[in-house]
Amino acid sequence: TQLLLFFMLLSVCLAIGLYRTPERTLKEMITYGLIKKEFIPYYQPIINSQTGTITCCEVLIRWQRSDGELISPNQFIPIAEHNGQIILLTNYLIEQVIDQFKDELIADSDFYVSINVTPQQLEDDEFLSTTINLLKQRNVPAHRLAFEVTERIPFSDLTKARRIIQHLTDFGISIKLDDAGTGYGGFSYLQNLPIDTLKIDKMFVDTIGTNDLKSNILDSIILFAKHAGLKVIAEGVETQAQVDYLHQREIYLMQGYHFAKPMPFDEFRRYLQQDMAI
Ligand code: C2E
Ligand code: CA
Ligand code: CA
Ligand code: CA
Repeated sequence: TQLLLFFMLLSVCLAIGLYRTPERTLKEMITYGLIKKEFIPYYQPIINSQTGTITCCEVLIRWQRSDGELISPNQFIPIAEHNGQIILLTNYLIEQVIDQFKDELIADSDFYVSINVTPQQLEDDEFLSTTINLLKQRNVPAHRLAFEVTERIPFSDLTKARRIIQHLTDFGISIKLDDAGTGYGGFSYLQNLPIDTLKIDKMFVDTIGTNDLKSNILDSIILFAKHAGLKVIAEGVETQAQVDYLHQREIYLMQGYHFAKPMPFDEFRRYLQQDMAI
């Protein structure tokens, strides 16, 4: 029986080892990818469908491996969020974004860039000061940058988050609630935080024109936003039918393949130039 116990223990250890390995190596790969500067921003426009102008763009990270393969954020962001690497990744991303847009972001215009952050970052004084210092150092007005914070993951310290978000908005950086309706905090977040915009998740936009019960949630979110005086951005808009439905509910800020897919900087810059002067 001792031998049996030994083998059982051994196989448990092996199983844990196997289970842990992918995450550990992925962490090392991310570190290595950062050193090799393999993470790049893609940009997707957010359109005012009433006026046809580009209001802003969302920064969506991509991992461009040396063999040319492009890895989607869903494959590494959750791990980076889990192990804290997300802080380094985001700082690196913000710097790249500012460098790429340098002149445009300083020029006089309302166009701004929206960057995804995790709740954890909005509870971090160092993230706050790094961001503010970077903007000051590069002479970028704060209103040219916005943060999107997902509702999928809860804040661990709402009081602290509130203080830091207040600090950011006082400085001029606006905050959006991302994936609204999918998450944990629900609308209670909004009563506690100075957030000015809701981003409706693609999951709900997808229900337009179907019998899916979630389409009721879409209408509730829109109603709630109106009552609370919040701006609304609909994400993942793919069809004219969805555009029409949203227009009927006076939603005009839209993002999705119907308008444009996320693209690398050079392509996005051409896209901006042919459409408007920023
Ligand atoms: P998200 O913030 O909800 O971003 C919207 C996602 O929907 C993006 O996926 C975008 O490419 C996709 N999308 C936009 N319009 C359409 C459409 O019409 N049809 C379809 N099928 N998809 C559309 P992506 O780029 O793969 O990013 C996935 C998620 O990864 C993001 O979801 C966000 O939560 C996270 N993420 C991306 N970049 C960053 C980052 O720099 N930091 C953090 N913390 N998270 C990021
Ligand atoms: Ca236009
Ligand atoms: Ca987002
Ligand atoms: Ca989403």
